[in-house]
Amino acid sequence: MEHRIILSEDEIPKQWYNILPDLPRPLPPPISPFTGEMVKFEELSQIFPKALIQQEMSDKRFVDIPEEVREVYSLWRPTPLCRARKLEMMLKTPAKIYYKYEGVSPPGSHKPNTAVAQAYYNMKEGINRLTTETGAGQWGSALSMACKMFDLECTVYMVKASYYQKPYRKTLMEIWGAEVIPSPSERTESGKKFLEKDPETPGSLGMAISEAVEDAAKHDDTNYSLGSVLNHVLMHQTIIGLEAKRQLEMIDEYPDVVIGCVGGGSNFAGMAYPFYHDRVRDGRDVRLVAVEPTACPTLTKGAYAYDYGDTAGIVPILKMFTLGHDFIPPPIHAGGLRYHGDAPTLSLLVAEGEIEAVAVPQNPTFEAALMFARSEGIVVAPETAHAVRVAIDEAIKAKENDEEKVILFNCSGHGYFDLGGYEKYLAGELVDIEYPDEKIKESLKKLPEVRV
Ligand SMILES: *Cc1c(COP(=O)(O)O)cnc(C)c1O
Repeated sequence: MEHRIILSEDEIPKQWYNILPDLPRPLPPPISPFTGEMVKFEELSQIFPKALIQQEMSDKRFVDIPEEVREVYSLWRPTPLCRARKLEMMLKTPAKIYYKYEGVSPPGSHKPNTAVAQAYYNMKEGINRLTTETGAGQWGSALSMACKMFDLECTVYMVKASYYQKPYRKTLMEIWGAEVIPSPSERTESGKKFLEKDPETPGSLGMAISEAVEDAAKHDDTNYSLGSVLNHVLMHQTIIGLEAKRQLEMIDEYPDVVIGCVGGGSNFAGMAYPFYHDRVRDGRDVRLVAVEPTACPTLTKGAYAYDYGDTAGIVPILKMFTLGHDFIPPPIHAGGLRYHGDAPTLSLLVAEGEIEAVAVPQNPTFEAALMFARSEGIVVAPETAHAVRVAIDEAIKAKENDEEKVILFNCSGHGYFDLGGYEKYLAGELVDIEYPDEKIKESLKKLPEVRV
C-alpha cells in the first residue's frame, strides 16, 4: 500500500515540456506598449536574457534542463507524490486522491522551479543583478534564494502593504541576501508618480512590476524576472507534472481529473500541461480544472482581451483573461491569487474550452485546508487551499455517483507564513467576497486598443 511515491535524484526530468507547438491555435503575439506593434526581440533583451526570450517563443516540444539547474533542483527535488488516504477515509469516498507536494522546497512553494532556471540563464549571460516584484512574498523569497545559488544580486520591490504586514517574508528574503524595497518607492520614476498621485497608497503588484521593470531597463548589468504568466515560466514549472506522471506510472495509475489553483497560472500549468500533452498526443481522457478565488475571478468573469500587465503600462500588452489592469483585488488571504491577469497560454486554453475554470469563496477554502491539515497533517498555503477545496468537491461527487475516479491535485506550497489567515478563520472572522460585476465592467472599460 503506497502512501508516498518517491523518485531518486537521478530521476529528476532532463527536459521541460513546452506547450506552444501543441496549442489548438497560435498564441496571439505580445504587443509593445510604446509602438503598438508586435514586441521585438531587442525590446525584450533590455530586461531578459536571450536564452529565456528564445524559450518564450520556442517551437521545440521539449527543452533540455541545464545540469547546473538540475543540481540545484536536487536540493529538494524530486518532490513526493502522496496518496491522501486519511482524507479519503474522512470523506468516505471511493475516489483516490493524489497530491504532488511542492511545499518541500526551501522557500516552501513551487516558485523556485523557475526562479533557479531564470537566475542560471541570467548568470550565464553575464548579468549581475535581478529585479522583481513580490506581493505576499513567496516569489521574492524564491528568487532571492535562486540568486544566492548563482551569485547574483537581487532587488525585490515588495507591495508596501505586505512589506509592513508580513515582516517575516522580508526577513526570509534578506537571509538569502536580497535588498527589499517597499513599493511604490522613490527609486524609480514610476514609483515617484504613484506616490505623487497618492502618498498613502498601499501599493499593488501592478505598481511593483512597473518599478522593477524600470530599474532593470535603466541598468545594463541588471535584468528583470517574472514569477508567473510568461511562457518560459510555465514551461519551467512542467517539471511538476512530468515527475507526477512518472510517479503515477510506477503504481499503474492515471488521473481522471487534474486540479490546481491559479494566480498567474504557473503551478496549475506546471502540473496540468504534461497531461494536456497526453491528451493531444494519445487522446487521453483527462479533465483539467483551474481554481481561482471569487474575490479575483479572472478566468470565470474576466474578459479575454489584450491588456497591460502593470499599472504604469510599460510592459508588453498580452492577450489574456483580465479583470482590467487597474483592478485592485479585495484583501483576501490568498495573496498569490490576486493578480488581474492570467497566463496567455492558459487563457487561450480556457477560451477554447480545453481547460475548465471554477471560482471558490474564501471560507470554504479554509474549511478544506483544515480538513486536509487534520487528515494528512500538511498545513497548506491559502492559495493551495483553493485546489484542495475542488479536489474534495470532486471526491464528494464521486461518492454520490459511486465512482472510483482518480483525482490529482498540485499542493503548491505550505502555509506556515500565513497563519494569520488561519487564525482569522478559526475565530470566525473571515468574510466571503464576491467581486461585484459592475466593478469588473468598469475596470474593463480601460482596456488598451490593439490592432494586430
Ligand atoms: C504564488 C503562488 C501561487 C499562485 O501563483 P501561480 O503562478 O498561479 O502558480 C499558488 N500557490 C502558492 C503556494 C504560491 O506561492
